Amino acid sequence: MDSQADVAIIGGGPAGSAAAILLARAGRRVVLCEKESFPRFKIGESLLPHSLALFDKLGVRGELERHAFPKAGGEISTACGRRTQRFYFEGAMQLSHRSAYQVERAWFDKMLLDHAAAAGAEIRQPCAVRDVAFDKTGVTLKTDSGEIRAAYVLDCSGRNAVVGSQFDLKRRYDHLQKFSVFAHYENVQRDEGRDGTLTRLVRGNKSWFWLIPLDGRRTSIGVVMDIADFHAAKLSPEAALDEAIATAPIMRSRMAAARRITEVHAIGDYSYRNTRLHGPRWLLAGDAAGFIDPIFSTGVFLALHSAEQAAETLNFALRHPLLGRIRMASYARDLNRQMNRYLRFVSAWYTDEFVDVFTASNPPLQIPQAVNSVLGGNIHPNFGVWWRLQLFYLVLWVQKRHALVPRLEQTDGEAAPAATGTL
Ligand SMILES: Cc1cc2nc3c(=O)[nH]c(=O)nc-3n(C[C@H](O)[C@H](O)[C@H](O)COP(=O)(O)OP(=O)(O)OC[C@H]3O[C@@H](n4cnc5c(N)ncnc54)[C@H](O)[C@@H]3O)c2cc1C
Repeated sequence: MDSQADVAIIGGGPAGSAAAILLARAGRRVVLCEKESFPRFKIGESLLPHSLALFDKLGVRGELERHAFPKAGGEISTACGRRTQRFYFEGAMQLSHRSAYQVERAWFDKMLLDHAAAAGAEIRQPCAVRDVAFDKTGVTLKTDSGEIRAAYVLDCSGRNAVVGSQFDLKRRYDHLQKFSVFAHYENVQRDEGRDGTLTRLVRGNKSWFWLIPLDGRRTSIGVVMDIADFHAAKLSPEAALDEAIATAPIMRSRMAAARRITEVHAIGDYSYRNTRLHGPRWLLAGDAAGFIDPIFSTGVFLALHSAEQAAETLNFALRHPLLGRIRMASYARDLNRQMNRYLRFVSAWYTDEFVDVFTASNPPLQIPQAVNSVLGGNIHPNFGVWWRLQLFYLVLWVQKRHALVPRLEQTDGEAAPAATGTL
């Protein structure tokens, strides 16, 4: 089956579906190929408040209100339980929405793709794109179900990065080569009320965990470690997850009665970026453009944000072919800037001083509220947020050299009085 389209989209994850909805609504002929049958298991369940505006625009907010789990903020604690810091989005500076959602991705991704079909996009599924060929007037996709001829291709194929791989554009960040193992569980111990909705990050010596409540019953649990440590341990992913949980006191106690309800999944090939995000007939969005370690739950947010911008860019390029390249270059600049901002946070997370400072009680000058704003997805910080962020990085720099706040000796098993702060 062959088709003609204005835009061919590779991948039906959040980026692909969001772009398909917006382009189809703008009257563009869209064909989207997704290689998997939905629903399917996918990791990446904790969303950010700043995505709520786009959910409204996509017309899916009602579905999220009915089916998703609310999220009030996050918590960072040390694996030994000696220091804990909670942050609530309602306390963040310059954030238009004060809460977010935790979603089961199998449901969320299918819901978005169904909306893309309802908006008028042609969905081919399961249908893998095998090759993309470019010429002066357009692009030809070879797929499992025939060829697609389109004016432009938008690559939303996630970590497969179909176009980036074809042009050899993918570059890894050496200092962020991590490995993660994860599964869904029941009966993980939760706090009462809004604290039971928080995304919890538990920081150990050489690894960190996430605990994301998916609904009243299920919790997504995962651990991230250096890929070299995983290989050196010579354990299966399942055994590595069990062992990591067993050696972190907080995880051990929260999971004392837990039961695993999915198989254990593992992902290596961590943070990377493509050296170019656009070309004459192509644009990259979401993880297909770049993937930053998911500590701060920025993946779906950046996927949706870039999809929205990509849809606007391609719509413009279809209207004004001669100016399209300029607009695509500006899209790439903006997306690179957003990824740089989160890359800096992520790189800081893996330093000891980040945890020292972040879990210290009562930092002054509303610095946490500014950090919280960016972690909530505020990608256009005003001056008040901006200077506080610079100060935060300065404090980290000084903390590395002279202890401004007490240093955490990350001795996971050590008994010590626990301290919990709230930002
Ligand atoms: C361990 C881990 C934890 C994470 N936790 C979070 C989190 O808590 N919060 C968060 O926001 N993000 C998280 N992320 C990141 C998040 O999962 C991704 O950033 C997000 O899914 C990106 O969306 P996307 O649409 O760009 O790509 P994807 O969601 O990966 O979608 C890409 C789609 O393309 C399809 N595809 C691939 N190749 C082809 C092909 N050749 N032809 C057709 N279809 C193809 C795939 O089947 C897939 O459905 C996490 C990631 C990891 C690895």
